[in-house]
Amino acid sequence: MIRAKKAFGVSPIEEPPPPLRQKSTLGPRACGWPGAARAEGPVDVFVRENVRDSLGVSWGFSREVEEGGFLFGEVHRDADAPSRWLVVVTEVIRAEHTEEAPDALVFSPESFASMRRHAEATRGGASILGWFHTHLVKGPEDRGLSVADRDLHFSTFRRPWQVAALVCVDPALDPEGREVAFFARQGDFLVSCAVEVLA
Ligand SMILES: [Zn+2]
Repeated sequence: MIRAKKAFGVSPIEEPPPPLRQKSTLGPRACGWPGAARAEGPVDVFVRENVRDSLGVSWGFSREVEEGGFLFGEVHRDADAPSRWLVVVTEVIRAEHTEEAPDALVFSPESFASMRRHAEATRGGASILGWFHTHLVKGPEDRGLSVADRDLHFSTFRRPWQVAALVCVDPALDPEGREVAFFARQGDFLVSCAVEVLA
């Protein structure tokens, strides 16, 4: 019998859609998200308390340069509204090898490589949910994402459920007055997400 040698091709790996999940089954809520929760976008964000504590209070951030990192966790479709996404941020890490500047943060290829290594080595099935970075707040305009932030998100975090977290570091108020907001894509825009903390 002659068996034809199967051609080896590289076909895109089809990811199964995230599983359906009801919001109420995500677990008890804790209160205390350090920022306004506005539900504009198609993604609802849930963070574990350790993530809330790291981003919101306990991590010290530079008051001279922007810093950033990556978010990991679970993604679900909302069983009550399947076109919406529920992401649960279970871990946040600081990026390595960034190029930091007062008004910009640049992830280097090494930043992404070490982030992927981290995900593969320790996270098992956890998804890369997105990224965070800090803004040094000198005025109201610093509390929103810049054009460069939006470009980075759209070019790098292409899944519809991936989010960008913005940590506003006001040197006069930090960390007590620190605000953290999450944004997700809606068409060509990034709009803010509702955020809840899971106990
Ligand atoms: Zn920015």
